[in-house]
Amino acid sequence: MINDTIVDGLTGTDPPPPQQAQTPYLILDTNVAAAQYDRLTKAFGPTQIFYAVKANPEPRLIRRLAASGSSFDVASPAEIDLCLSEGVDPGHLSYGNTIKKAKDIRYAYQRGVRMFVFDSEAELHKLAENAPGSAVFCRLLASSAGAQWPLSRKFGCTPDMAAALLIKSRDLGLNPVGVSFHVGSQQLDPSRWDASIAEAAQVFREVSASGIELDLLNCGGGFPAGYVDAVAPIEDFASAIHESVERHFAVKPRLAIEPGRFIAAEAGVLRAEVVLVSHKSFTDDVRWVYLDIGRFGGLAETEGEAIRYRIVTAYDDGPKGPAHIAGPTCDSVDILYQVTPYELPLELKPGDMVDFLGTGAYTTTYSSVGFNGFAPLATFCIGDNA
Ligand SMILES: *Cc1c(COP(=O)(O)O)cnc(C)c1O
Repeated sequence: MINDTIVDGLTGTDPPPPQQAQTPYLILDTNVAAAQYDRLTKAFGPTQIFYAVKANPEPRLIRRLAASGSSFDVASPAEIDLCLSEGVDPGHLSYGNTIKKAKDIRYAYQRGVRMFVFDSEAELHKLAENAPGSAVFCRLLASSAGAQWPLSRKFGCTPDMAAALLIKSRDLGLNPVGVSFHVGSQQLDPSRWDASIAEAAQVFREVSASGIELDLLNCGGGFPAGYVDAVAPIEDFASAIHESVERHFAVKPRLAIEPGRFIAAEAGVLRAEVVLVSHKSFTDDVRWVYLDIGRFGGLAETEGEAIRYRIVTAYDDGPKGPAHIAGPTCDSVDILYQVTPYELPLELKPGDMVDFLGTGAYTTTYSSVGFNGFAPLATFCIGDNA
């Protein structure tokens, strides 16, 4: 049963989840995701939005965003099939993974995908052979400083290499269109896009000398969701990016972004059940609250306590006390919060429900397959559907 006072902020009116549904599960409100999408389009103006499917690949969410006009950033044949089966035009897909098997590129090409990313010469040769003539863009290395869920040096290359490879892509029969970068997920600082936009402008100038006019600037994802701590409004990010583009580019490029978390996170409420409340000694006043969800059941981003979710219970008006919060498995890393000072109601007891807000992104996809016998995270979708 959905308790409206607990699941505040959600608007969907569908009946699920069923009364007998087993926790933990995610309630995903496609209305909230669509509203987040609309906020982005208003904030950014004419900008192509590629929803990063990995944040939450729920089919009804894909369909809803497609109806709003979204394009999609995909990383695998399965994500391509998902989008196509929800009615997305292959021309609205961007294969945004820099690490692709040749046969997967070929598959994407056969299904009509014509936009691909690369960050290395070897990948470029794969693209030339398996997706001839396609539009390609090069991903730049970018700093993740300021991001709560940083990306490493796994993706991207330096601007000089990007310029050389984009020129090479033309010689290989591909269509070089621009550059992309990603400043790290849950990036809190709107000014962190500036350095990469400056580098992108440098790449545009370098390839222009070889007669190639790039026109696509893909500023990636990273736009933050509100968790325990408030974040700057999306309008601040949009205006910082627009201002950087004005400053660094003589001719304004077409803009694209690849938001995942910003669209999906706030559309989700993850409901779990208290399994055990205990103390480690007769004198310890910090309780351990064990839930039926943990690091392996979908809350992987609590690693290092990086993402701190808001937790809501039915007793939040009553007295609270400090608590460590942990998952149900027999693995000692399966602790959600031990350093971050969380306070939970003193009344909380086994069998009570707790709701984690802002859990629509990077939860179901991070749920491990049956670790220690605990099932992957189920989703119940609410909200209107196109
Ligand atoms: C995951 C991913 C995104 C989405 O990042 P968010 O921080 O969720 O906005 C965007 N682009 C690419 C290439 C990604 O891999």
